[in-house]
Amino acid sequence: MLEEYKRLSPSEFFYRNKEIAGFSNPSRSLYTSIRELFENSMDACELNGILPEIIIFLRRVRKSEKGEIYKLYIQDNGSGIPKKHILNALGTVLYSSKYVIRQSRGTFGLGGTLALLYGQITTGKPVKVISSTGNSQIHQYTFKIDIRTNNPVVYSYKAIRNNKKWRGTIIEFYLEGNYTIASRYIVNYLKLTAAITPYADILFVDPNGTLYYFPRTVKRMPRPPKVIKPHPHGIDLEFLKYLISMFPKTMTIKEFLTKAFHRVGETTALRFLQYAKIKPTLRLGAISEDILDRLYNALRTYDKFISPSADVLSPIGEDILMEGIKKEFKPEYVDVVSRNPSSYRGHPFIIEAGIAYGGELPGQAGDILLFRYANKIPLLFDEGSDVSYKVLERLRQGSYRIQSDKPIAVFIHIASTKIPFKSVGKEAIADVPEIEKEIELALKILFRRFLKYRRKIIKKKEVEKRLKIYERYIHLISKFSGKLADREPADVEKLLEKVKRRYGVKEKIESTSL
Ligand code: ADP
Ligand code: MG
Repeated sequence: MLEEYKRLSPSEFFYRNKEIAGFSNPSRSLYTSIRELFENSMDACELNGILPEIIIFLRRVRKSEKGEIYKLYIQDNGSGIPKKHILNALGTVLYSSKYVIRQSRGTFGLGGTLALLYGQITTGKPVKVISSTGNSQIHQYTFKIDIRTNNPVVYSYKAIRNNKKWRGTIIEFYLEGNYTIASRYIVNYLKLTAAITPYADILFVDPNGTLYYFPRTVKRMPRPPKVIKPHPHGIDLEFLKYLISMFPKTMTIKEFLTKAFHRVGETTALRFLQYAKIKPTLRLGAISEDILDRLYNALRTYDKFISPSADVLSPIGEDILMEGIKKEFKPEYVDVVSRNPSSYRGHPFIIEAGIAYGGELPGQAGDILLFRYANKIPLLFDEGSDVSYKVLERLRQGSYRIQSDKPIAVFIHIASTKIPFKSVGKEAIADVPEIEKEIELALKILFRRFLKYRRKIIKKKEVEKRLKIYERYIHLISKFSGKLADREPADVEKLLEKVKRRYGVKEKIESTSL
């Protein structure tokens, strides 16, 4: 029998393979949907230097076969989407404004769109999108996605006069879910986001009418990330071909190198071409397969290219991270560290880490909780296969056996133009040696300082205990020794004060008068 062959559209592919992007069951899908749309909203603010204000309403509508049907409403004050892109951005899988080399939460061009597609598949209802870039009109569309053609199908369109110059995006749609199971993850996710974005105002009303409000406590926000050109070490052969095709055939290879790549100037280009044994005046149109091969191999192996610049990244920053952790967990002790920029395979990255102890941290004594973040996204699943987990375990079982009477939390954030996720579900980061090393260095600094603090606290407690005993007897001793020496008893209060000051004991130690 002859097999039948068929081409799948991107929508249809993801419709059939929803699991790989995090839409595996009603609870996980609800979580992923909120997360993806929320991340789009945060991106739309942060990429444009806007202090985020995000509102999420989730309402239970009715029971369904597998779970329940919910209505999800999400509103932001971000950039808004230009009218000509609204339908494609949200009604076409793999259509994105983020296919550039820049740090952002979204990258694949499918997260938010897939959430809408999932809603459509499970409820059959169209999506409503309202958006404005702050100009004279607000655009309101209802549409569905045609899975076979991967195109939006419009049900209605309305332009509304934007008298108040409102700017932002509202998305409203129905989807199947299970909030009873997903609630823990959703609330956790929002709280962990709030802990590193104290400059965002986030409000969530859940189906039970519970309000979760994560208020803004700082007005400073990280600098927005910048778009960069590719670094020679970060490309593959296909991408090199594509880059070459983007420039005029008459351009010389020397000029091409300086125009197409990040951190390649005249001098570097000339030195590199000498290394690659290619004439600087060679025109792009005259590049043969042989030369292309040589060029590609040389680009990968030449080790004198300057590392990618990290000032295009948008790290959280030590003070904002510290403020966020304090705001959300009110710990007794908190410390943060931002490592120097580094790079792997031509992609710049920065590791930021924090440690917190006690306060309102969840968990129990002896626990070390690991909170992982990638480009400001909290990662809640697949902890065991993440590089941070591996490093933390190694340190805990090695020279940092931290004992503690209260829970400890470790925060690890990686900011990069390309996060090496293990899968499209964006949940775990691969073991890239350069990243692993930076995480380890960051944690070692934090652990060392934390252990010093712990030792001080333990010492203080011991001193307090001993002082209590001394205080009880020292008056007697001074009285008797005074008598023996036939003198006035010594003033022991001063002595005690001195000892207390030295060990930082502030409170008055109860003394028993004898
Ligand atoms: P990705 O985020 O990976 O690009 P999505 O499917 O989530 O893919 O979103 C597609 C595009 O839609 C985004 O690249 C962005 O341009 C646009 N977009 C989605 N949500 C918003 C929003 N809330 N505000 C502004 N633009 C948005
Ligand atoms: Mg997205």
